[in-house]
Amino acid sequence: MRDPITVTILGSGAAVPTPKRNTSAQVLSVNQVPYLIDCGEGTQTQMMRFGVKQSRITAIFISHHHGDHILGLYGMLSSYNLSNRTKPLHIYAPSEVHRFFVLQKDFFGEVFNYDIVFHPISFKGVKEIYEDKRIRVTSLPLKHKVGCCGFLFEEKEKEPNINKDAIETYELSISDIKRIKDGEDHILEDGRVIPNAKLVTQAQVPRKYVYCTDTAPVIDKYDVVKGVDLLYHEATFDCKQNLLAKKTGHSTSVQASEIAKSVDAKRLLIGHFSSRYKEVSPLVAEAKELFPNVEAVKDGGVYTIE
Ligand SMILES: [Zn+2]
Ligand SMILES: [Zn+2]
Repeated sequence: MRDPITVTILGSGAAVPTPKRNTSAQVLSVNQVPYLIDCGEGTQTQMMRFGVKQSRITAIFISHHHGDHILGLYGMLSSYNLSNRTKPLHIYAPSEVHRFFVLQKDFFGEVFNYDIVFHPISFKGVKEIYEDKRIRVTSLPLKHKVGCCGFLFEEKEKEPNINKDAIETYELSISDIKRIKDGEDHILEDGRVIPNAKLVTQAQVPRKYVYCTDTAPVIDKYDVVKGVDLLYHEATFDCKQNLLAKKTGHSTSVQASEIAKSVDAKRLLIGHFSSRYKEVSPLVAEAKELFPNVEAVKDGGVYTIE
């Protein structure tokens, strides 16, 4: 069994917070390492409520510079400072987010005791923007009122495992093992060839998560998202609000389901709901007609990729 990858929703509402739904933020956790995605107002308190280990975050990904995605950022960075953080923090965000940070830093005259490194993301084409030993992250330009990016989080491919009995049976050396892991067959002294498939067990297929908000339905043009295990797609409106969705650079739940179907997603989560909806079950019902494996997220919900 692999360690599950989890997504903890910290905010599932659009534009303004309500008692039930905070604005956008979520934490992707891979091998217990948390990555923060967007940082709406109140994100740090939501992390406390839902048991996210804030101090372990070293990378933050921000989709765009609308308030409902960034108003919690400065407060959180400031709290890190007050709690004597020393670990550097990397923020992958449109350049406007850096500008907003500098304005606030100058206003408060705050001196940060740890490094905050901004990495500007571009809206021109699909780009790999981050990599560590566990994952790689690719930005996906979206279609919104301002420059905005979605993110593809991909687990890194693991090497195949050499079967233990093969090591003993063929007395494999370290260099043999390396060659076999690279995909070669093994040739015995008498010339017999042992096929690679008999010597290794392939590692499991890497898992993929896509975060996609705020946007009109566009990500089906990106091949890299095909077959994604879990897709979070915004569904700000119900299908009666098609025109409003188009005008504001958002999607309806039906459009989210069309995207999920067209990219062959295994599962769809919808969120970023307009505060006009007290109940979002009608939005789910509309999406389900085309894409049955869909669920509306809620604040505090934890969604798993096994
Ligand atoms: Zn938004
Ligand atoms: Zn927005």
